[in-house]
Amino acid sequence: MLTLKDLETGRRNTWCPGCGNFGILKALKDALVRLNIEQEKVVMVAGIGCSGTITNYVKVNTFHTLHGRVLPVATGIKLSNPELIVIGHAGDGDAYAIGSSHLIHAARRNIDITYIVHNNMVYGLTTGQTSPTSPVGMKSKTTPFGSFENPVNPIALGIASGATFVARGYAGRPKHLSMLIEEAIKHRGFALIDVLQPCVTWDRERGYAWYNERVYELEEENHDYTDKNMAYAKAYEWGDRIPIGIFYWVEGPTLEDRLPQLDENPSKADLEKITIKDIIEEMI
Ligand code: SF4
Repeated sequence: MLTLKDLETGRRNTWCPGCGNFGILKALKDALVRLNIEQEKVVMVAGIGCSGTITNYVKVNTFHTLHGRVLPVATGIKLSNPELIVIGHAGDGDAYAIGSSHLIHAARRNIDITYIVHNNMVYGLTTGQTSPTSPVGMKSKTTPFGSFENPVNPIALGIASGATFVARGYAGRPKHLSMLIEEAIKHRGFALIDVLQPCVTWDRERGYAWYNERVYELEEENHDYTDKNMAYAKAYEWGDRIPIGIFYWVEGPTLEDRLPQLDENPSKADLEKITIKDIIEEMI
């Protein structure tokens, strides 16, 4: 049986005390333990930012890649060995700015990857600049008079792009978030979890107290996550009440289902029998 101790790496954690990333880390580890996952079958891919160092703190296979490129790397890993459980981690800047087109295309392909976005509404690692999810009016180093751009709506974007599992978690409720991560990993298809992750250093307004006053769980309100219109309506609820939970969840063919070439696991191909010359000759 997998235990929390098995997942420890012994690496020194560099997040600020109180950072929401701790809640995400706990939720993830608890989910992996409940699933009793084989560590060697998990690959975590992370991009640049405070969220990216999560790869240092979980003892599974990890790949720390370029800013915005979590999903292309995760896609390559999944297609080369569909038996692997691939989990991507990105911050809101990574996922919804430079990596936004990758999100759209991974979602429409419905590749079987779980994508966890640590959404703190700032570029934390680079000392708190406005990000794609910063609310209008938010003051930061790059917007000293307040942000003048509408923020991206990650939930609506995920649904519109074709993701078959779209959820929002909150780092201050790790037990609930852990349930979301567990269901997302079990789901066959592209799963997006946008996580409200307080950055206690660079966003002093939206801390735990701010979120605690507002968040509520969709599971308490009989939300029908198979109803796309209802999911969209909930995606736009943001104010005194902020829903967390599974907004949208349906089954559908994955990219792997549509690629018969993957019936034989490519990672197990006998490379001794393959020569570059043969491949080139086949193509010309
Ligand atoms: Fe967390 Fe913000 Fe510190 Fe980064 S800067 S570790 S997001 S609290």
